Amino acid sequence: MKKLILFLLLTITGITLAQEFNSERLYDSYDSYRDLSIIRKKFTHQELMVSLEKFRSNEKYNFKKIGKSMENKEIWMVTIGHGNTHILAWSQMHGDESTATMALLDILNFFSANDQFDDLRNRILENVTIHLIPMLNPDGAGKFKRRNHLDIDLNRDAARLQFPESKILKSVRDSINPKFGFNLHDQSTRYTVGESYKSAALSFLAPAFNYEKDINDVRSRGMLVISNIFTEVSRFIPGHMAKYNDDFEPRAFGDNMMKWGTSSILIESGGWKNNFDKQFIRKLNFISLLVGFQSIAFEYYQNADIEVYQNIPENKTKLFDLLLRNLTAVIDSKKYIIDLGINYSETERENKNGYYFRGRIDDIGDLSTFFGYDEFDFTGSTIQPGEVYNKNSFSKTDLQSANFDSLYSKGFTAILSNVTGKFTDFPINLVANEEKYKPEFAIGSLADFKIIKNNKVQYLLINGFLYDIKAASGKVPNGIIVR
Ligand SMILES: [Zn+2]
Repeated sequence: MKKLILFLLLTITGITLAQEFNSERLYDSYDSYRDLSIIRKKFTHQELMVSLEKFRSNEKYNFKKIGKSMENKEIWMVTIGHGNTHILAWSQMHGDESTATMALLDILNFFSANDQFDDLRNRILENVTIHLIPMLNPDGAGKFKRRNHLDIDLNRDAARLQFPESKILKSVRDSINPKFGFNLHDQSTRYTVGESYKSAALSFLAPAFNYEKDINDVRSRGMLVISNIFTEVSRFIPGHMAKYNDDFEPRAFGDNMMKWGTSSILIESGGWKNNFDKQFIRKLNFISLLVGFQSIAFEYYQNADIEVYQNIPENKTKLFDLLLRNLTAVIDSKKYIIDLGINYSETERENKNGYYFRGRIDDIGDLSTFFGYDEFDFTGSTIQPGEVYNKNSFSKTDLQSANFDSLYSKGFTAILSNVTGKFTDFPINLVANEEKYKPEFAIGSLADFKIIKNNKVQYLLINGFLYDIKAASGKVPNGIIVR
């Protein structure tokens, strides 16, 4: 009996050890692999080539030029490992979806290091051969836009295969016949996990290969690997992972990979509060990929629970950057209770020195079923359109000595100014032509309002950023120039 118990204990412990993904240790050690040559989400093909250069001399890696984009930019594949099972991972098929490209650099740093994970990385590389294509759409990346040079969505060209970037991916797939494919994208940062308020930091999908959404061996293998990734990454971001819509798309690569016999795994990098350049999501990609590689290399997925995958909630579009609830608005002398959903769009500053933001009303009305990365309840407060301080026109020098707190306390969200350009670093909007400055309760309007309680202006919304006058808190990172 004692022997039997000991045997059972060893077996159970053995299984536990065998399923160890090292995710917490990898998470804690991540900083030593993070590639510091690229730390912002917008970067060019040229910058990526420079970042890849340091790996070329490493004999572990095989660099192969697999083709050229429409604008003649070289597309490279890096191969590591010598196992019989082949894994293909490609990123940035959509030019403005760069999070995973950064994570692939981190993966290359991980496999080139010599440290506490030597045993793990050696065992992975004995069992699998990993092929990485960072940046499949360099032309789109150059303009930080989704589509390729001819404005074609490459992820709708998997059936016709007309454009060089799509042809490259298909021919690589056909030549190495990978058992697994990681299809790496970025999704909207406005997605939540199902009906919850939590942002979908990562979403996964083992896509359908037909309209019936049948599940065969190829597709279920993808689901099982995702089950492993989901369970492990849940330790770090519980409730922040969702499933992407699984409707069959006959023109998309993930769906066709399944048809062609490659278990494809979609990873979509989503949103995280105050993580504009997505560096935290990049880290989660790194962990997800290494868990996925282990799941495949050690065939842990064979013992994974497919229900974990099936129970992942779907993406819902439920988030705004800023949500203001229960404001009283007086429109045509009638009172209404409204919520305002505000989103920001960004424009890169000169010399890659960060971003300018533009805040707009994205939705208005009863938004009680929505959430905000930031949200405030203004029950009992009244909202009115912001106003221009027009006693005199401010020059740049005037602005440098302006007392913004005093202007704010009087409810001014903009000032008359002759400064030109599109954006200003001053924390207020600048208006050259007063007629053109018309914040209003309408979708698309500039989000410039004052919020009043007990006949006093208590908050200002300037370019969509909330400023608390009494506490003198809140940050307006930049203003808009209205001409
Ligand atoms: Zn995409």
